[in-house]
Amino acid sequence: MLAGPVISPLAAWASGGKLQNWAGNLEYSTERLYQANSLEEVRAFVKKQSNLKVLGTRHCFNTIADSAHAFLSLKSMGEVVALDPQARTVTAAAGMSYGQLCPHLHSQGFALHNLASLPHISIAGSCSTATHGSGEKNGNLSTAVLALEFVSAAGEVINLSRQKDPDVFPGAVVNLGALGVITKVTLDVQPAFTMRQYVYENLPLSQFKNHFNEIESSAYSVSLFTDWQNQRFSEVWIKSRMDDPQPFASRTEFFGATPATKNLHPIVELSAENCTEQMGIPGPWCERLPHFRMGFTPSAGKELQSEYFVPRRNAIDAILAVERLRDQITPHLLISEIRAIAADNLWLSPCHMQPSVAIHFTWKQEWPSVRKLLPVIEKELAPFGVRPHWGKLFTVSPAQLKSSYPKLPDFLALAQQYDPRGKFRNQFLNTNIFGS
Ligand SMILES: Cc1cc2nc3c(=O)[nH]c(=O)nc-3n(C[C@H](O)[C@H](O)[C@H](O)COP(=O)(O)OP(=O)(O)OC[C@H]3O[C@@H](n4cnc5c(N)ncnc54)[C@H](O)[C@@H]3O)c2cc1C
Repeated sequence: MLAGPVISPLAAWASGGKLQNWAGNLEYSTERLYQANSLEEVRAFVKKQSNLKVLGTRHCFNTIADSAHAFLSLKSMGEVVALDPQARTVTAAAGMSYGQLCPHLHSQGFALHNLASLPHISIAGSCSTATHGSGEKNGNLSTAVLALEFVSAAGEVINLSRQKDPDVFPGAVVNLGALGVITKVTLDVQPAFTMRQYVYENLPLSQFKNHFNEIESSAYSVSLFTDWQNQRFSEVWIKSRMDDPQPFASRTEFFGATPATKNLHPIVELSAENCTEQMGIPGPWCERLPHFRMGFTPSAGKELQSEYFVPRRNAIDAILAVERLRDQITPHLLISEIRAIAADNLWLSPCHMQPSVAIHFTWKQEWPSVRKLLPVIEKELAPFGVRPHWGKLFTVSPAQLKSSYPKLPDFLALAQQYDPRGKFRNQFLNTNIFGS
């Protein structure tokens, strides 16, 4: 049924014969990569293995997806299973990416509430790590998950939903790949909408300090980019829904920032060719919510990423604390981004029960220097209740992680239920979550 390691369809994932993550900063610990084409193949594979991890689209920067034993890819299970217009839900097979789902949804007159900076990532992998976009009223992408089908360590098919399993479902959505192999994800959808994207340049830090709430509430999604130098945000990306009762009105000045005169990349020196359309030109939600276009390299490519969430009430102080480290940060930085995210009730979400602001760093691939810098940043952010992004690089201690997730003991119990022998655990999970 499942032959040897699959070479041909997944060869693009390897460089020089080594299996790597998307950014190439990580070589995975095994080359044993298998591909399942059906639920039954997933079940049979899981039953046979003593330890495995699922590889999604490999966009994590740390070892959360790594395995020393075997990988399973669901890449070929990438179809829309059902779109229910009445219930306003879509069910996708777990190998599907947002980039595959969104055009289909749009063609059927539906939309998702939000997207990350890029559409290239798998739905299952993204929701497992609480991937988010921007917008103070928008929960992260995991908050759209209405139901999950997954295969437990015993090979059983488990179906959980928000309605049917209110006690455990919030624990299962942001699962860090620790509960089983997700085979289907059902998401909330809403009628398709049109958006305009505007970019403003050079928003002074003083304006940010004094008008933070007005800036964040000025549109459906707001992102601020900075290299932390010159007391300013180099770019502000504003994504406005045209069906908003009060859509963002283009203006000649936005809190001291001026309108860009052409499409820009967040890293101003790079070509905007791979970025979504700006300059207020209307377009479908799926071509405006991400910063980067499907079919093009997102971000910079050769990079590292870290991201830290703080409760929104601490955002200004936390951002000012990072700004004071500017001369240590900027030499190793490509760009930083500030985004607001709504609170949710998902146990391991960094926005669990608190409206949050995420401070993101796209680093140059200078890991020895970045590794030294992360604890410095984390020390500054510690008083503000910092939680790191699960899929990016951090050095926050397991003890600190434990203390910042009050529902972690419940998650451990859930993992014990579906995976009593740790079949889906790896070193990352053992160190950071399971404490062994
Ligand atoms: C250029 C770039 C831009 C990014 N932008 C953003 C952003 O805007 N916002 C944000 O929050 N993050 C962002 N990220 C981070 C990224 O979204 C997350 O790391 C996300 O988890 C990637 O999904 P993946 O499938 O590629 O992950 P992978 O690394 O393949 O997997 C992630 C985890 O999910 C598990 N998993 C995957 N599929 C399954 C499955 N079917 N069943 C069980 N477990 C599974 C894996 O085992 C692993 O634990 C960005 C990353 C890159 C490279």
